[in-house]
Amino acid sequence: MSSTDLHTPIEYLKGVGPARADLLRKELGIRTQADLANFFPNRYIDRTQFFKINQLQQNSSEVQIIGKITQIKTVSQKRGSRLVATFVDETGTMELVWFRGAKWIKESLKVNTPYVAFGRVNWFNGAFNMPHPELELVVDYKKSLQTAMQPVYPSTESLTNRGITNRVIAKMLQNLFVQTNNTFEETLSKGVINKLHLISKSEALFNIHFPKNQQLLTKAQQRLKFEEFFFIQLQLIRKKLIHKSKIKGYIFEKVGDYFNGFYKNNLPFDLTNAQKKVLKEIRKDMATGAQMNRLLQGDVGSGKTIVALLTILIALDNGFQAALIAPTEILATQHYNAISTLLNGLDININLLTGSAKAKKRKEIHEILEDGSLHILIGTHALLEDKVKFKNLGLTIIDEQHRFGVAQRAKMWLKNEFPPHILVMTATPIPRTLAMSVYGDLDISIIDELPPGRKQIATAHRYDSNRLSVFKFMKEEIAKGRQVYVVYPLIQESQKLDFKDLMDGYESITREFPKPKYQISIVHGKMKAVDKEFEMNRFLNKETQIMVATTVIEVGVDIPNASVMVIESAERFGLSQLHQLRGRVGRGAEQSYCILMTSFKLTNDAKIRLETMVKTNDGFEIAEVDLKLRGPGDLMGTQQSGVLNLRIADIVKDAAILKRAREMAIEVLSIDPNLTSIDNRNINQTYQEITRNRAIWANIS
Ligand code: ADP
Ligand code: MG
Repeated sequence: MSSTDLHTPIEYLKGVGPARADLLRKELGIRTQADLANFFPNRYIDRTQFFKINQLQQNSSEVQIIGKITQIKTVSQKRGSRLVATFVDETGTMELVWFRGAKWIKESLKVNTPYVAFGRVNWFNGAFNMPHPELELVVDYKKSLQTAMQPVYPSTESLTNRGITNRVIAKMLQNLFVQTNNTFEETLSKGVINKLHLISKSEALFNIHFPKNQQLLTKAQQRLKFEEFFFIQLQLIRKKLIHKSKIKGYIFEKVGDYFNGFYKNNLPFDLTNAQKKVLKEIRKDMATGAQMNRLLQGDVGSGKTIVALLTILIALDNGFQAALIAPTEILATQHYNAISTLLNGLDININLLTGSAKAKKRKEIHEILEDGSLHILIGTHALLEDKVKFKNLGLTIIDEQHRFGVAQRAKMWLKNEFPPHILVMTATPIPRTLAMSVYGDLDISIIDELPPGRKQIATAHRYDSNRLSVFKFMKEEIAKGRQVYVVYPLIQESQKLDFKDLMDGYESITREFPKPKYQISIVHGKMKAVDKEFEMNRFLNKETQIMVATTVIEVGVDIPNASVMVIESAERFGLSQLHQLRGRVGRGAEQSYCILMTSFKLTNDAKIRLETMVKTNDGFEIAEVDLKLRGPGDLMGTQQSGVLNLRIADIVKDAAILKRAREMAIEVLSIDPNLTSIDNRNINQTYQEITRNRAIWANIS
C-alpha cells in the first residue's frame, strides 16, 4: 500500500467499519489512517509485571493478576444490575465488577479457566474489586506479542462504553502497520534528519506504538516532538517573513530635532544598556520599509515608558503622529501626565482621550487629530472608535497588551492607507519557550536590566493571625513618611463576598488608623472614574497614607513614595498577578516591602507561589514557575490555545527540543524561504498539508 492511501478514511481499515469510524472521528478527531498513525499514547505501562491478590494495596493503580473465575452472579441495584465475578488466585480472593453490558459479558466469561485480569483496583466493603477489567485468557495472552511497555492511548467514556478499549485501538494500529508494511512517508529532509541525528518517521511511528525498549521509545518521542515543534515554528516564521515582505510600512529614516533635542536637554537619567539596545532594535525595525510588529517585554519598573516616548519622538521626527493606548483610564492618565512632564518646554502637542472625556473635548481632539496639529494622542480603547481619525498615524504603542485582543490590534492598522508601526509593551514576563510558541511571528525586544540603584523588594509571608504586627509595621513606615497599599482580591465569580471583604477590611483599617492622624483612600471597580481618579490623586499627592484597593491598581501605577504593599488573601492570586502587584512598590529610593497575608489553609500550589514570591524578585524566574504550575493554556488565556494544542511535545519539559526546532526552522527558511528545493520536498509537502487542514478547519469553525 502506498503512503498516499493513508488519506483514506479510517472506516476502511480492517477492524474499524462505519460505526467505529464515526466514534473515532467524534471522540478523538481521527478521520484518516494517517490520523490514527499519528495518534500517540500518553503513557506506557509495564505488562510483564504480575501481582498476587495478597500483594494488592489500597492505592495500587493499574495491576494485572492471573487467576480464575469461580462464580458469577448478577446483583440488582437501584438502577439496573451489576455483574460480579469472584476471582481467585493461590493467595486470595477478589471481585471483578461490571456495571454495564452485564448480559453480553456474562455469556462470554469462562469459569475455572486461567485469565489475565488487568485494570485499576478499588478497596470497597472490606475487599478488593476491579471494575471493568480487561480480561484475556492466559493462552491468548501468551500468544499475543507482549512488551514491557504497553501503550495507553487517550480515551473517552463513550469510547470505553462502546467497546473501543485501549486494546481495540492497539489492535487497529497493529492492522494499520501490517497493512502499510511499517512504511510511512518521511516528513523531514535528509539534511535535518542527519544534522540532528533523528530516526526516520517510520521508525519513530513504529516505536511510539510498539516500543521494544525504553531507548527506542525515547528516540521515537524525540523525533516526533521535534517534528511537532518544527512545523509550528515553520508556520510562525514564514508568517513573519511574509508579513515583512508584504506589509509595507513607513520608512522612518530620520532621527531629528525632536529626538535629539529631548535626548540632550530633557532626558532625566542615563538610559540603561538594555534600554539602549532595545531602542536600537526598534529604530532599525522602523527603517526597513516593512511594518514593525514588535513586542517589548520588560519587567515592572524596567523603564518601558521612556523607550516608548523615544520611539514616539522618532515618529514625530519623520512627520508622523503617534498613539499610545493603555488598558485603563488611570494608566492612560498617568502616561499622559508622565509624558507631558517629560516633554515640558518642547514644542509638541499632546492630548488625552478616554471614555469619560466630554463631548466638547472629544470634538476638539477629533479636529486637531484630523488636521494634524496634534502630535501625540494617549488614551484608552476610546482611541479605537471609528470617529477617531488621524491625519497621518505612523506609530501605535499598546501598553499591557494582554488586556487587548489581537483584533483590536489589527483595527488600529485600518486608520490609514498604510498600517502604523506597532509596538506592544508588556510587563508580564513571558517565558522564552512560550514566547517562541505563541508570539513566534512577532519580533521581540527584551529589557532585561533594571535601572541602577533599585533595591530588591523585601517580601514576607504572614498569616492572618499576625495582623497586629503587620499594622504595627505599617505605622512605623508611615511615621517615616512612606505610603502603604492594602490590596484585596476581587474576582468576578465571588464579587459580592469579595466586595464585603474589601469593605470589612477598609473598616478595620479606619479603626486601626484613625483620623486625623491617618488619612485613607479607597479605590475599587464599582466607583465612578472621576471618584477613582480623585482618590488616586489624593494618594499621589500624599494627602492620604494608605490606599485600600482591589486589583485596579495592578498594572502600571507609579507612585514612588509608596513603599509597602500588603496583599490580603494572597493565596487567591496567581503568581504573575502577585508579581505585578508587588511591582507597584520599590519605585523610589527607599527600601520597599511586600507582605503576603494568607489564612492557614493553603494548597500545595499556593505554598509554592508564596515561597517563590518570597524567594525572588525576578519576573522571568517567576514566570517560569507560573508556567510549570498552570501550564501554557491557562497562562495565555484560551485565545491562543490553538498554537499550544500539542499532541506529544510539552513546552515546559521539552524546551530544549523547541529551541532546536526553532533554530532549524530559521535555518531551513533562510536558505529556502519558499521550500521549493528538492531537499525540502518532504517538508514542503507536510507544510502544505498542515496549512490546508488548518484552512479547512477555519472554514468549518
Ligand atoms: P515600566 O517598565 O514598569 O513601565 P517605568 O517606565 O514606569 O517602568 O519606569 C519605572 C521608573 O524607573 C520610573 O520612575 C522611571 O522614571 C524610572 N526609570 C526608567 N528608566 C530609568 C533609567 N535608565 N535610570 C533611572 N531611572 C529610570
Ligand atoms: Mg509601565
